[in-house]
Amino acid sequence: MHDMTLAAARKALSERKISARELVDHHLSAIEKLDGEINSYIVTTPEKAREAAQAADAKLAKGEGGALCGIPLGIKDLFCTDGVQTTAASNILRHFVPPYESTVTHNLLRDDAVFLGKTNLDEFAMGSTNMTSAFGAVTNPWQRDGSSTKLVPGGSSGGSAAAVAAGLALGATGTDTGGSIRQPAAFCGIAGVKPTYGRCSRFGTIAFASSLDQAGPMARNLEDCAILLGSMAGFDPKDSTCVDRPVPRYEDALNRGVKGMRVGIPKEYRPDNLPAEIAALWDQGIAWLREAGAEPVEISLPHTKYGLPTYYIVALAEASSNLARYDGVRFGERVPADSLDALYEATRHTGFGEEVRRRILMGTYVLSSGYYDAYYLRAQKVRTLIQRDFLNAFENVDVILTPTAPSAAFAHDERPTDPVQVYLNDVFTVPASMAGVPALSLPAGLDHAGLPLGLQLIGRYFDEETLFAAGHVMEKAAGFAKRPALHAGNVA
Ligand code: GLN
Repeated sequence: MHDMTLAAARKALSERKISARELVDHHLSAIEKLDGEINSYIVTTPEKAREAAQAADAKLAKGEGGALCGIPLGIKDLFCTDGVQTTAASNILRHFVPPYESTVTHNLLRDDAVFLGKTNLDEFAMGSTNMTSAFGAVTNPWQRDGSSTKLVPGGSSGGSAAAVAAGLALGATGTDTGGSIRQPAAFCGIAGVKPTYGRCSRFGTIAFASSLDQAGPMARNLEDCAILLGSMAGFDPKDSTCVDRPVPRYEDALNRGVKGMRVGIPKEYRPDNLPAEIAALWDQGIAWLREAGAEPVEISLPHTKYGLPTYYIVALAEASSNLARYDGVRFGERVPADSLDALYEATRHTGFGEEVRRRILMGTYVLSSGYYDAYYLRAQKVRTLIQRDFLNAFENVDVILTPTAPSAAFAHDERPTDPVQVYLNDVFTVPASMAGVPALSLPAGLDHAGLPLGLQLIGRYFDEETLFAAGHVMEKAAGFAKRPALHAGNVA
């Protein structure tokens, strides 16, 4: 069971070669052995998981059950789960137990998935290292060849990525506001999909930046992601930005091939300081697609350079507004004080970590009168230009290929102390988020130290299928199969 993909497990379950109970027990015992070191789960729910597995087995025995019947998943601890603590990795929500289920997790449960627990993340999904969690940093299951230095898993969905990579879940949910599915997927050698904004409901997902937040699947390969996305996506009247369009069978798109497909290669994604091995992997990706019959085309996305600065205005403005609700009165922790103002201050000061406080301050600043026009309004205008870049490009190409991140995973103690240096990690992922177009990351190769590197595909609105088709071609060519050092199969 160590190296089974979600698709293979599903087949084995339906043929009754394994039981859902065995599969869940296997994962729970792997978590017990390894997660002390990795810290990918904030909480596990073994009793609930075993109960759900038993119910799944009963359905499977009758030849019934949904598309994910008996499949053990990790759920990013940003999705509200009815009766199970949901913390956003923040002290302010440390004891929060939602009385309702997010739509995405509801959809997965409808299809009879089994939840193993809630996975770790950067506090309120703000970060790219998973080091800002109030529940401790996550350790990437991968290590550099010949070194046991602890590396970051990326973020913010770093717990989900690490759990999947280490064999502590067959798949996981992530959320992506500016790269939080794609970058940790790349750092941990797995696949991750940020669907079109509006494809998955945001209802019950704790908000970071509402015009950017989008849920998506993380799994060992794109077929598994396709299966998960088919379950997670769909219209939800409870989220007014969720789009009413039928959900395709994404799995059917995997083998479409890329003959005649035009693949855009944006010149702005090749900065002078791009590491040579990442540039080489990108060229390799281009070659794989060309060999399979696609036509690479150089394109320009001229406003790319404004992606990062405008993202860090828009996202922080929205975050400052969204996080205003945590005031110690209705939700979460409360630090008592003599006056209401003092209660707010004390609660928010002790409840939020440093990065979250920094972002609330900056977000409030760019929204304040006098600065609103200069920062927020201008950023929104530039956002429109970024979006137009993509619309123009997609008149001429079907899909865009870039690296996912400008580096491989770095060590916990190599994280830059300057927050802006950390933000630079999002340079390749943020533009697609600003435009709302779908994008995925697939594991494409290893760097000189044996660490995974990812390639990113960006597509037209609601055309996740073309991403799956092109991604699957590269996945087959890459044949990425190496296991990380910390893996369930290595400790069994
Ligand atoms: N790393 C980015 C940030 O810190 C993106 C986070 C995300 O996508 N949630 O904002």
